[in-house]
Parts: sequence; C-alpha cells; structure tokens
Amino acid sequence: MDTPIINIDNVSKSFGALEVLKDLSFSVASGEKLALISPSGSVKTTILRILMTLETINSGMIHIDGEPLWHMARNGEIVAADEAHLHKMRAKIGMVFQLFNLFPHKTVLENVALAPILTKGLSKPEASIKAMELLEMVGMSDKAEQKPAQLSGGQKQRVAIARALALQPKIMLFDEVTSALDPELVEEVLNVMRKLAEETDMTMVLVTHEMSFARDFADRVLFFDGGRIVESGPPEQIFSDPKEERTQAFLRKVI
Ligand code: ADP
Repeated sequence: MDTPIINIDNVSKSFGALEVLKDLSFSVASGEKLALISPSGSVKTTILRILMTLETINSGMIHIDGEPLWHMARNGEIVAADEAHLHKMRAKIGMVFQLFNLFPHKTVLENVALAPILTKGLSKPEASIKAMELLEMVGMSDKAEQKPAQLSGGQKQRVAIARALALQPKIMLFDEVTSALDPELVEEVLNVMRKLAEETDMTMVLVTHEMSFARDFADRVLFFDGGRIVESGPPEQIFSDPKEERTQAFLRKVI
C-alpha cells in the first residue's frame, strides 16, 4: 500500500488538565475524501488545528506526506520542529474555516493572490493570473474586484476555498464550512467541493454537520466521541448500519 498522506500515530493532546485526545491513531490515503463526524465538542476542530500546526501535541507522531509534522529528523534523531520546518509543512495543507476569515480591506482577487506573492515570491501579475483561474473554478471571477463585505456568505466561502487552493496544497481541510450559511447558500459551496473532488486528486478532510453530503461525498467516515474514534467505515455502512450504540444514538438525533 502507498504511504498515507496523513498518518496520525498515538497522538495525545491536553488543554491544561483536560485531555481531549488520548492515543489517537488514524491515517488518510492520498486522494481520499474523509469525513469526521461527532457530537460537538468532540475534538474534530482540534484535530484540524493540530494538522494546520495551529495547536501543538503532547505526545505521539504525525507524518504528512511522509515527513514528521511536529517533529523533524536531525542527525538521525527526532527533535521538536522549528519554525522553518513548520513553515514547509504548512504549505502542504490548506484550510477553509467556518467563518471565511477573508481580509476585509482587500478585493476578492487580492485575497486569493496575496499568499502566493508573500510566501512563494510570485510577482503580482503572475499571482493575479493564477488567482483568476481559481476564481473561475469556484464561479467567482465576475466578483474579482469586489470586497468581501459585498458578497453573500456562500460567495465568501467560495473565495475562501480559492484562497486556500492558491498555495497548491496537497491536502485541504474543511471545518464546518457551511454551518454559518443560510440554507439556500449551502449547496453552492458543496458544489464547489464536489467539483474540486472531480477535477483534482486532492486529499480532502472535512468536519461537517451536513450528513447527507458526508454520505454521498466521503470515501470514509470517522465517528468520534469523547476524544476517541468510536467507529470508522464507508458512509453506506456508518449511516445505514452503524455497529456502535453511540453512533446509532448520534445518528438518530441528527438525521
Ligand atoms: P468539535 O470541533 O468536535 O466541536 P473541538 O475540537 O472544538 O470540538 O473541542 C474539543 C474539546 O476541546 C472541547 O471540550 C473544547 O472545549 C476543548 N478545547 C478546544 N480548544 C480549546 C482551547 N484552546 N483551550 C481549552 N479547551 C479547548
């Protein structure tokens, strides 16, 4: 089997005295579409933040694309990662947040072009051409000169997806990207994610409350509760024939 693009091995994480992850292990295959579901407050966001290096871990190892994330190999020894290593690893992963996090004073085009200019040294015209291509992909090229405040929530989220793609990550993380949207705007964002899955071989990890989307989009679903994986399997099995009582109880509430 190919090396997984994400490998989480025995990871524990505490916030002060609260241990939120205990010996968590799972891996994600390259190109896989993985959905993380659970009652809220069950560490889905924390896992995405750890992968983005926005949170540290207390123990265990994470490998991204074959390289240790929070650690680095130096002279044959594994040591804590320095900023340069984290910077390199961050470029492999893009994240889209629930609340868009666009730069309010920049135009749509500038929002998408900025990171490649700052981190990859692209010239402004080069970055703008690439940004326009991505805006076309998400159906937002006609709004390139507008500011985020002039857009609907669904449009903002499509721009945020284009912005995350601008650094050409191998992995995209989606953290409840439709939960702040009015119901009629949810579908346009999900359609962009479907398109991304069809047109690229991107690895996509999503935390979502859209169970029907998880069901037809994901290759595999992990159900978490209390900081642990309760059950994992293909969506047909998890949603139609969950084995664990806790999964059954959760699905009865949300579906
Ligand atoms: P989910 O995304 O599944 O709703 P989270 O990952 O946001 O859950 O949170 C998991 C647990 O970790 C919760 O009990 C939450 O209160 C706690 N937690 C998350 N972030 C922090 C933090 N920065 N400081 C303290 N506790 C936190």
